[in-house]
Formats: sequence, C-alpha cells, structure tokens
Amino acid sequence: CFITFEGGEGAGKSTQIARLAAWLRAGAAGLSPREVVTTREPGGTPRAERIRAAVLSGAGKPYGPFAEALLFAAARLDHLTTLIRPGLARGAIVLCDRFSDSTRAYQGAAGGLDAETLAALERVVVGATRPDLTLILDLAPEIGLSRARQRDRAASRGPDRFEAEALGFHQRLRTAFLAIAAAEPARCAVIDAQGSPEAVAQAVRATVATRLPH
Ligand code: C5P
Repeated sequence: CFITFEGGEGAGKSTQIARLAAWLRAGAAGLSPREVVTTREPGGTPRAERIRAAVLSGAGKPYGPFAEALLFAAARLDHLTTLIRPGLARGAIVLCDRFSDSTRAYQGAAGGLDAETLAALERVVVGATRPDLTLILDLAPEIGLSRARQRDRAASRGPDRFEAEALGFHQRLRTAFLAIAAAEPARCAVIDAQGSPEAVAQAVRATVATRLPH
C-alpha cells in the first residue's frame, strides 16, 4: 500500500509521517502490523538525493521548472525502481513525503509548466504505481512559511530559502493541492494542518484507518 503526503512549506509532513509510521508499526486500530518504509521526494535513494541536492542547493542560476521536472523525474524513476516498487512488492506500506502531486503543484501550477508535459512525464515515469491514498496537509502559507523559517533557523540552515518566492507562489501551491484533492477525491484526503502535531496526527490516523484496506 502506497501512501503519499503532500502540502506546502511547514505543513508538518515529516513529523506526521514519522508518527503515522510508528502507529502502523505498532499495529494499531486493527490494521495488522506490517513493514513500513518511510521515504521522501525529491530524493529517497542515494542517486535521487544527489539530484535533489543539485537542484535545491540554490547555488547558481535556478534550473527553471522544465529542467526541474526532468531532473526530478529521473530521481523519481530511480526511487520507484530501487525502493518504492520493491517495497510494495514485499507487501510493505510505503509512506512517501511528496510525490507526483508536488511536481504538479511546484513545477506546474506555481512554476508555470504546462499540465500536458507533466502528465506525459508522469505517464512514462510513474506508470501504474499511483498512490493508494494521498494526504494533503493544508495550511495557510503565512503560517506554514513562519513554521518552516523557525525550523530552518533552529537547524542553522543558513539564509532564508523562501525569501525569493513571493507569497503568491505559495498561495498558488495551496490552491493547486486543493484542486488536485477536489479532482481526485477517491485518492486524496485534505487534512487541516493548523492544529497541534497530536491533533493533526489523530486526523491522519482516522483517515488512514477508514480509507486503507485492513
Ligand atoms: O518537503 P521538503 O521541505 O523536503 O521540500 C524541499 C523543497 O523542494 C521544497 O521547499 C520545494 O521548494 C522543493 N520542491 C520543488 N519541486 C518539487 C518538490 C519539492 O521545488 N516537485
């Protein structure tokens, strides 16, 4: 079973993935305990992490949305082939922090790359390995950005990564994720990410318990 987490900056995806993984590993809520693999995009494998670092390093001129989509597609192919598909084939639950919907939102809706190009890439790279469930952690970008800045400061990550992007960019991201959820309600669930980590974790668990095959 393949579950992806999506959302803008500072929505709490990594916190929630860690909490859900612990809950699933403990075999809670009548779900039989199963192997749980947690991973992320862009990245997730050594090769894909090198592509992530090259694109997100901020060194030099930005690649632009088309090259980003191609590079992230190459990273995703490696991730799918060496980690995600083998995990699913073993019967593991794979929890992935960002996947194709982030490409649609970041490079597509916010970056301006046309939907047809993105759909073609998704078809050849992802094929039939679509998520069974996508949890969209929804949060006003003002709050998410302030959380993300706090987190980066705490980790001494250096200059503000989000300074270059206008608030409008992040609002387009939010709108894009909500539009994806509205267009694919059978796959997607929108989770209000404004509450405490525990409140959000409870909402995530409730959704997973009702939407996953037992
Ligand atoms: O979710 P996480 O903080 O790991 O994402 C890292 C960064 O990667 C985001 O801040 C976003 O700017 C970027 N990203 C992107 N395009 C994607 C996925 C992520 O630009 N398709």
